[in-house]
Order: sequence, then C-alpha cells, then structure tokens
Amino acid sequence: AKSAGGNRFELADPEADARAITRHGLTTALPAALDRNEFFIEYQPLVHLGDGSVRGAEALVRWLHPQHGVLGPDRFIPLAEHTGLIVPLGRWVLDQSVRQAKQWQERHGGNDATGPLRINVNLSPCQLSHPGLVQDTVDILERAGVSPDALCLEVTESALIGADDDLLKPLRQLAEMGVDIALDDFGTGYSNLANLRRLPVSILKLDRSFTQGMQQFPADPVDLKIVEGIVSLAHSLNLAVTVEGVETGAQAEQLRILGCDTAQGWYYARPGPPERLHELALVDATG
Ligand code: C2E
Ligand code: CA
Ligand code: CA
Ligand code: CA
Repeated sequence: AKSAGGNRFELADPEADARAITRHGLTTALPAALDRNEFFIEYQPLVHLGDGSVRGAEALVRWLHPQHGVLGPDRFIPLAEHTGLIVPLGRWVLDQSVRQAKQWQERHGGNDATGPLRINVNLSPCQLSHPGLVQDTVDILERAGVSPDALCLEVTESALIGADDDLLKPLRQLAEMGVDIALDDFGTGYSNLANLRRLPVSILKLDRSFTQGMQQFPADPVDLKIVEGIVSLAHSLNLAVTVEGVETGAQAEQLRILGCDTAQGWYYARPGPPERLHELALVDATG
C-alpha cells in the first residue's frame, strides 16, 4: 500500500530490509526469550533399522516467538552462537531433554535387548570450547538421575575438523564417562577419514544428502558405493552408523541392506511433542 511518504521504501529491496530487521530484532530478543521460556523442544525418534524398534530421540529446539510464531533452529541458532547465548540456551536444551528422557525411561524402562530409551542432543562448537561443558553435563545427568550411557551428544563434522587436543579433551572426558559422541552431518565436511581414529566418537551420523540419493529406485549407484564404503569403514572402526532424512520405506530398506544401524526421518515420524514418543515407543514395546 502506498503511504503518504511516497515510494521511498520500494527503492530498496524490501525483503532484504525485512530480513535484516528481523535478524537484528531476533538477536536482541534472544536473551529475554530464554528468561520468558519461549523455547521448546520437539523430539524425533531414532529407530533401529534391524528390528524397527524406537531406541530414543533427537532433541530439536524451536522458538515460539510472540510476533513471528514458531521459528526453526536455522533462524536463531546462528544468532545465538554469534552472541554467546548458545551456551545458556544449549545448557537449557540439555537439561530439558535429559529430564524428558528420564520420564520416558520411567514409563517404558526399555528392555534387556534395547536398553533404556536414549536422548541425542546437538552441541554447538561454542559449547564445546566453553570450560563448563563437562561439569554442567555431569550435574544435569546426576540431577535427573539419568545414566551417561543414555546420552548422545551430536557434534558436527565441521566443528571437529582440525580440532586440537584442547578442544577434544572435554569430549574425551565425556566419552570416558559413557556418553556417546556422534559426528553429525558426516560426509559434508571433507574430513580425513583416517582422522576419525583420533576423535572420541562412537557414532557417525550420515548427512541427509546421502539419503536423498536413495530416493529413486534404483538408487544412484555412486551414492550406494559411497554409503557402502562409509558403513564398512565405520564398522571396522567400531562406530555405529545413523542415517538422517529417511522419507520413504524404499530408502529405509536400502539403507538397512547397506548395513546402517539406526535411522531417523519423516518416514518414521516428524519431530513432535514428547508425548508422541511415548506413543511410538509404547506401540513398539507391545509389538
Ligand atoms: P540436524 O542436527 O542435522 O537435525 C536434523 C534436521 O533434519 C532437523 O531440522 C529435522 O527436523 C530435519 N529432518 C528430520 N527428518 C527429516 C526428513 O525426513 N526430511 C527432511 N527434509 N528433513 C528432516 P531442524 O529441526 O530444523 O534443525 C535444523 C538444525 O538445527 C539441526 O540439524 C541442528 O544442527 C540445529 N539444531 C537443532 N536443535 C539444536 C540445539 O538444541 N542446539 C544446537 N546447537 N543446534 C540445534
Ligand atoms: Ca543433529
Ligand atoms: Ca555409551
Ligand atoms: Ca543434518
């Protein structure tokens, strides 16, 4: 609509302006948002490809913004990283998710074959270099009464490329306690595969781009070969392989045949409220 001010604003790129204003607005609103409890977590199940059982879930944070509605992490995590708010926000996500895992475990217990339901939490590189990480994690697990074995911290491959011993030390300490460390978005960061041996990781999380190559049937033969190679290398290093972004049954079947261990994606469930995992795990437990 034309205003009394004429067309002055139409000369600029209105969308770019809106984006910049929003980015600035979101950045300044972040600290209060944490105080006001505007963040919430959705959980997406992790499914064992061999038997289809739900083994746990990944915690994915969202922001219920009073004006803009629900914002995905891609909109605000980079801003939180830039301002340092990611440290308290990440701690909050870890605390909430671990408490949630405790509730699932109390309701379903898990069985001898699968163990208790597990919780995967994303860790930003800033949290990795924050000196409180190990102690905070220990405190959170102890307060909730959750075993370190039930926690997996996901760190992106790019965050660990060229990581020196100082950066790896907290991860090593956590791994020694029994926390699993997963290398997230694996395959996108050009990491030296031989380097995997010096990283304290126990899980490779294969990036969605590989899963996408398996959408057609027959799948892209080059993609198949690459995934096959990664899986056999991972297993020879005693690493489990999780695949993300599984959207169809055909993909799931292909990835199972290729030897992947665990899968996550819309085919099983979209990220959702914690009660949803109760239902999925319960159906699963009763057959
Ligand atoms: P990610 O760790 O790679 O998480 C997987 C993303 O793929 C999620 O996006 C999930 O909703 C989406 N996804 C799951 N299944 C499918 C599928 O079948 N198809 C497609 N196309 N997408 C699928 P989301 O929730 O928007 O999260 C985006 C990224 O934000 C995450 O990528 C993660 O890097 C980051 N993130 C989320 N929560 C946190 C957090 O608490 N802390 C930190 N530091 N980062 C977080
Ligand atoms: Ca992740
Ligand atoms: Ca473990
Ligand atoms: Ca990813």
